Amino acid sequence: MADDALQNMLAQMENAEPYIDIDPGVFERLKHPERTLKVSLPVEMDDGSVQVFEGYRCQFDSARGPYKGGIRYHPGVSMDEVTALSGWMTWKTALVDLPYGGAKGGVVCNPKEMSDREVERLTRRYTEGIRRMIGPDIDVPAPDINTDQQTMAWIMDTYSMYGGYVIPDVVTGKPIEVGGTAGRLEATGRGVAITTERMFEYLDRDLEDATVAVQGFGNVGSVTARLLSNMGATVVAVSDVSGGIYDPDGLDVMAVEQHVAKNATLDGYEAGVTRISNDELLRLDVDALIPAAIENVITEDVARETEASLVVEAANGPTTVAADEILLERDIPVVPDILANAGGVIVSYLEWVQNSQQYSWDLKQVNEDLEGRLTRAFDEMLDTYTARECPDLRTAAYAVALERVGHAHEMRGLFP
Ligand code: GLU
Repeated sequence: MADDALQNMLAQMENAEPYIDIDPGVFERLKHPERTLKVSLPVEMDDGSVQVFEGYRCQFDSARGPYKGGIRYHPGVSMDEVTALSGWMTWKTALVDLPYGGAKGGVVCNPKEMSDREVERLTRRYTEGIRRMIGPDIDVPAPDINTDQQTMAWIMDTYSMYGGYVIPDVVTGKPIEVGGTAGRLEATGRGVAITTERMFEYLDRDLEDATVAVQGFGNVGSVTARLLSNMGATVVAVSDVSGGIYDPDGLDVMAVEQHVAKNATLDGYEAGVTRISNDELLRLDVDALIPAAIENVITEDVARETEASLVVEAANGPTTVAADEILLERDIPVVPDILANAGGVIVSYLEWVQNSQQYSWDLKQVNEDLEGRLTRAFDEMLDTYTARECPDLRTAAYAVALERVGHAHEMRGLFP
């Protein structure tokens, strides 16, 4: 899985190469991450035993600014996976034109089987492990799969304790009480909803009559489902690790959210729904399929068999390169992850800016700024798609992003 993620990311770069104008030496540099740190993390568990976890932080590229990207806690984390994810962060920040590079971190663990105190100790030890390579002007982590506002507060606290003063802008996605911004919690899902709406406009289809299936019901999937349903779309299916639920007349997304808030998963939600598997959800006949969980779920088989008319990638790397080709042949457009899920890092940037100015914005200002940046990037992607006759939107998005990062390298030159 993880190897595939890295191979996918590199293949996506290669696919865009014919459509860009950058020095071949610079393009070669773009294929290699700048550095990766691997740390061993001994943690005392609640029963008194010691468990040693493995953690990573990969800093992929910093030509355009400090490294930026989340931290993931998951049993499937590996060095290759964080490398792929840090590459995607680099292209994402470039596409939406934030003054950042790209990074990603992760710890191999299953926080769902750990107590909150164990997760806190692991987080503080991981922060100690990577603290020499992060910092407000160096590398700024954020939440990702299985990490949240609380995790960011612990990282900020640990880093500040070493610094001797409060350093809120070392991470984004913090709770409001310690320097978080209005709108960050919902930002990724809001961005997915905005890009879905734009895509429907571009395709001249009506979102109000559309059916939607969302795979993954974590922070991103649940907010996406709620906002799209508020915009008038009919969310017919959602899923999580426990499987999926389907109602052709539309789910009551708020009721589903309340169930998950109480029971942790969709398991046991029965209000007039049919249980389906994650695999079935991906093949449903819907106007928009939104994978919002993990990598490589849209495989060649799924691409061949899905009856969805459009894919909007809320997760990072959900579609394999081989599946992409099949979707292209079948004329099923894909809104690429580096645009569709960029709302999170955009509002992370706004949080970081507010922290550095010791000033806070209201929700309206944050959401307007988010929408403006995403819309501009969407239009730039479409202009490139048309002007350079790119085969698909991902190639166009990569062309914009790779050129931005490549030109930054060309301007800076090669040290020494
Ligand atoms: N983990 C999120 C992503 O993949 C957010 C990263 C950030 O805000 O830095 O885009």
